[in-house]
This record gives sequence, structure tokens and C-alpha cells, in this order.
Amino acid sequence: MIEDKNQSRTSLSELGEFGLINHLTQNFKVQNSSTIKGVGDDAAVIENKENQILVTTDLLIEGVHFDLSYMPLKHLGYKAVVVNLSDVYAMNGNATQITVSIAVSNRFPLEALEELYDGIYTACKTYNIDLVGGDTSTSTKGLLISITAIGEVKKEDVVYRNTAKPNDLLVVTGDIGAAYLGLQVLEREKRVFEVNPNSQPDLTNYSYLIERQLKPEARKDIVKLLSELGVKPTSMIDISDGLSSEILHICTQSKVGCNLYEEKIPLDQQVISTCEEFDLNSTTIALSGGEDYELLFTISQEDFLKIKGNPHLTVIGHMTDESVGANLVTRAGQQIKLTAQGWNALKND
Ligand code: ADP
Ligand code: MG
Repeated sequence: MIEDKNQSRTSLSELGEFGLINHLTQNFKVQNSSTIKGVGDDAAVIENKENQILVTTDLLIEGVHFDLSYMPLKHLGYKAVVVNLSDVYAMNGNATQITVSIAVSNRFPLEALEELYDGIYTACKTYNIDLVGGDTSTSTKGLLISITAIGEVKKEDVVYRNTAKPNDLLVVTGDIGAAYLGLQVLEREKRVFEVNPNSQPDLTNYSYLIERQLKPEARKDIVKLLSELGVKPTSMIDISDGLSSEILHICTQSKVGCNLYEEKIPLDQQVISTCEEFDLNSTTIALSGGEDYELLFTISQEDFLKIKGNPHLTVIGHMTDESVGANLVTRAGQQIKLTAQGWNALKND
């Protein structure tokens, strides 16, 4: 939309609140038949025939959840939508609408918000979502974005966190740990840049890590895949805070234990090589990193043959009786208690 955000700077006060909302939302086209009324009235109207409605919200604050010095606004808009959709998919549902609320200080020109909405718009197109409303306010400092996603799921398809059973298999999608390492690389480059503004970083060895941090995707495809395979998970959660913490959520809420096998954890080659370079333990990164937005779920053993060999799905362990607790079984065969020391939203407090 905007090639160079420094080329023109239109002050937000020139448009006024209504002019701004209109400007940012005028190009959104409704894609879902359930969207009866989108932006423009006192409330959006959504049609629902027989399905259950899913609602989830995330709040992102500049300086706490994102750093604009290495996060382009377009990517921020995209990611802010994706992290919400991930929660809808983690319920085994389909996301259909979002609302977007922003509070923005007047240090941001209109062009910056255009970039943010360009990212939001791109995510909406990619995932077939309608932007149906929001709220706009000024902030005294920084940028704040709150997105609510709305989705639907057939009553018999919804999957909760608290329904895993002993002996179920524990399955993860994709690979994990890359987004956290991407953040470490970006933060390192930021420190280098602060010392030497002329430095030209060569990030080719980290391209996958950085993409996972700046442009994560939500696993809508997995909801479809599971349905095609005829597998309904017995429990499911998305990985936003690190594998360890998500496993513990399933265990605590389902009142089960778990054995997670270190050797089974799927890692990308860049995660392995960058961990070596940074002198980090890749298992620790996978367990405690975060922001992978992969899905973690349990299935009954009967369903194993249906998922066996699927390149998107890795069995990493199995659930046990609650009394066994949640454990990591190391490559050496040692059992270690899993702890939720992971990355979490309060780490800056
Ligand atoms: P109200 O005063 O009734 O809350 P607003 O003037 O805030 O209405 O909003 C007018 C319309 O624009 C509503 O449909 C609202 O949902 C939508 N809207 C407001 N802010 C945003 C935004 N940041 N992004 C998308 N839609 C927005
Ligand atoms: Mg309002």
C-alpha cells in the first residue's frame, strides 16, 4: 500500500476519528455469508444457524509484546490477526470475523496505520476472515492493538484442553523453537545496529527463524487435515508460550500426566545450527521458547494409523495417569519433571 513510510506523513488529526476509520476500512470486502453487517453501524451483525460460536481476544502493547524497531507495521498487523485465529483453530473451529481496536499516539502518521491495516487486510484475505468492527482511540504513548476473533464450530467437533485421557498420544504440528530464536537474532542485530548504524546484517542463515517470528501462520490447514483424516483430537491447545507450558495446561486441566520424549521433538535445521552458534540447548528452546503458533493435541491410540507418517504431524509422547506427573524423557533415558519456566507475557514485568 505504502512503499516508503517516510515519504509522506499525514497527521491523524487531519482526518478525525470517523475519517480515519473510514479510510482504513473502506477497502475491506466481506467474504463470509455469515457477515450480515460489518463496519459502519453501532454493532456488527453475524448470522448463526446451528453452530457454536467461538470468541477469543488478544491484547498487544508496544514495548511489551512487540518492538517497532525491528517489527514492520505490516507484519505486526498480520501477526496480530494470526495469533487470534490460532486460538480459534485450537478449538477445532473455523474463524470467520475479527474486530480490531487500536489506541495510537499522534507520533504515528496515517501512513503507519495504513501499513498496519495492510497487514491486517492481508491476513483477512489469506484466512478468509471479515473485519467487522473495532474501536479507535488516542494513546498518550505508543501503540496498543486489541483483536477479537469470532469463529464457529459444530457442536460435536469442538475440542477442549481438559479432555485428554491416559494412554492418548501427544502430537505436535510443524516444528518448534524457531520463532523464539528469530527474536534472539533480531534483538542481537538491534544491539549491533545501535553501536554501528552502518552495519548491514547478513541474515540468510536465519531466514526461517526470522520469518517464524515476524510472519507466523496459524494452522487452519491442520483443522482441515484432521477432519479429512477422520481424527478428532481428544484435547487441543495452540503453542503460544512454549511447548512445556502448553503440555502442562493440558495435563493440569485434563488431570493426566505425560511422558514427552526429547528425541521426538521436531526441530528445524536452522534451530539446531543457531542453537549451536548461540550456545543454547535446543530442547530448552523448544520447551520454553514461544510464539510458534503450532497446534498441540492428543489423540486416542486407535487413531495412530490415520496420522502415521504425515509430514505435518509428529508424535512426541503419550499421556499417563495423573500420579506419574508431566515428564521429559531425555535422550539418555532420564526422566525430568517438566516445568513451565517458559517465555510468558509477563516477562517484562
Ligand atoms: P461507536 O461510537 O458507536 O462506538 P465508532 O465511531 O467507534 O462507533 O465506530 C464506527 C464503526 O467503525 C463501527 O462499526 C466500529 O465497529 C468501526 N470501527 C471503529 N474503529 C475501528 C477500527 N479501528 N477498525 C475497524 N473498525 C472500526
Ligand atoms: Mg467506538
